[in-house]
Amino acid sequence: MPEAWKGGLGVTEALGQGSAKVANSLAMAIHEHRLAPGMKLSEDEVGEIYGVSRTVVRAALQHLAHEHLVELKRNRGAYVAQPTVREAREVFETRALLEPRTAHSAALRCGPEDVAILQGHIEEEHAALAQGDAGRALNLSGQFHIEIARIADQTTIADFIAQLVSRSSLIIALYWQRRAALCESHAHDLLLRALERHDAEAAEQAMKEHLLDLLTSLDLSDRPSVPTSLKDALG
Ligand SMILES: [Zn+2]
Repeated sequence: MPEAWKGGLGVTEALGQGSAKVANSLAMAIHEHRLAPGMKLSEDEVGEIYGVSRTVVRAALQHLAHEHLVELKRNRGAYVAQPTVREAREVFETRALLEPRTAHSAALRCGPEDVAILQGHIEEEHAALAQGDAGRALNLSGQFHIEIARIADQTTIADFIAQLVSRSSLIIALYWQRRAALCESHAHDLLLRALERHDAEAAEQAMKEHLLDLLTSLDLSDRPSVPTSLKDALG
């Protein structure tokens, strides 16, 4: 079983409440691009900000490392992860394998309440963009994908897709080359319409094209990684 499959809900449940709160808050900041890839996460500073002990912070960081959002460097502490070009490709290729099938299943199960939730997501995303809050819009566009996995009612795949969507926000922060909106709202509208009329084939096709479009919007040409600190450059 690949390491990534062991992530998801089980780990969150095993995490203490304090650590789970810190982990969720840091994950949200990463999703919204308030914390940039490569940024150092000092245990003391994080503990001070949230008013919790280093033990609590350490457990939260370990959980995020398990989810590939944080990288733990031996003797140097925790950093926001910097996915490589290869990881970026893998994440989007895996999404392209899983999510069209999930959209297919979701179209067969989608009820009026689900349509309303997805419509709400799209509207919130538009509102966030209108207010210039690109980070929140990015987070919401990711939630749209997770919501479709939830509608498909395949818990294991939904957990895995949630993790891939999380990692995608780091990849987008590093490799995005299009300045315009992230998930084109047009693509999400198209998906929603297909789900609403239970057209599984159309939903599958729309998701496939949407993910391909996202992948081609990333600059995944190989390039040397930029050191994040003097210590990294010279140490
Ligand atoms: Zn999307």
